[in-house]
Amino acid sequence: MSIDLSTPPVPISFEVYPPRSDAGVAALHETIRHLASVDPRFISVTYGAGGSTGGRSLELLTHILRETHVDPLAHLTCVGNTYAGANALIREFLDAGITSFLALRGDPPAGVSEDDVFLGDLDSAAQLVQLIDRVQAEREPYSETPIPGVPGAVRLAERPRVDIAVAAFPNGHPRSRHPFEDIDALLAKQAAGATLAITQLFFHADDYLAFVQRSREAGVTIPILPGIMPITSPTRLRRVLELTGEQLPADLAVALDIEPTVEGQREVGVAHAARLAREVVDGGAPGVHLYAFNNHETVLDVLSEAGVLDPATRMPDAVR
Ligand code: FAD
Repeated sequence: MSIDLSTPPVPISFEVYPPRSDAGVAALHETIRHLASVDPRFISVTYGAGGSTGGRSLELLTHILRETHVDPLAHLTCVGNTYAGANALIREFLDAGITSFLALRGDPPAGVSEDDVFLGDLDSAAQLVQLIDRVQAEREPYSETPIPGVPGAVRLAERPRVDIAVAAFPNGHPRSRHPFEDIDALLAKQAAGATLAITQLFFHADDYLAFVQRSREAGVTIPILPGIMPITSPTRLRRVLELTGEQLPADLAVALDIEPTVEGQREVGVAHAARLAREVVDGGAPGVHLYAFNNHETVLDVLSEAGVLDPATRMPDAVR
């Protein structure tokens, strides 16, 4: 299966993470069923720091592959992995039928400093992109078709390629030293064979639109999909700022802080994410990628409010 962002309506996609315990599995499968019902181009599954959720990631990806019509996209990380280990991991995912990947450098596991951790044999996402492409090429070499009427002559068919997405950082990666380092990193990933970029979350449409423009001017041609995260509580806002190093969005922070109820805060977060989705689509984004936090209702509300989801495609309340 190949990720197609070229056909209307506005392509949508979601990110989920593997369940942390067996108890969460049934609820997550239900969430996947709801997300699949609105026909996303893919559902991506995160890969825990240092491979900590590897088995559960693959189980969830296989579930999406078998139980829905949606393309599962596997996040894979380099951190802590040897070359041979990464090679074996990619083969395991390909053997399971997974053909779309998000190649990431990955962060050190919780509690481990960037300077302490063994970063592994692959030290950038671009190298992982190349390795995924190479492993797939070894499995599916060019096929030869005899040319009728020309004895001994063969035509080499283009081999089927896997889809390889990569991360992009509209406001810079927390460890990058200057703004162009992130664009250079994206160019390197594109040169290595990446076919799609998905952005880190951002809070203002201009952050994304200006980054896309700078990337295009520098020679990035692959689609850059905006990653949008509904921030539905002050706690979640604090947590994502810690994790991503993004600047505090003062307007959203104040709106969440003055809202006294949980439901009211949820509405603030949904409205903010919906506005962002609408503005980036109006600005030319090739689709919208939603960080779902394993909950379908919030992201589907965002898409409905943004006007990019046909309400008729959403499963009725009775089966929610
Ligand atoms: P790279 O492309 O190798 O680097 C990205 C940028 O960071 C470049 O600009 C580079 O110059 C700069 N940089 C990187 N390292 C340094 C350094 N040491 N010093 C200076 N600059 C540096 N992580 C997970 O563990 N699992 C996941 O499933 C996961 N999913 C993600 C999904 C998305 C859409 C995004 C945006 C991030 C995700 N991450 C995930 C986090 C990601 O692994 C980290 O942000 C990681 O630090 C960078 O990964 P990368 O693939 O962009 O790395």
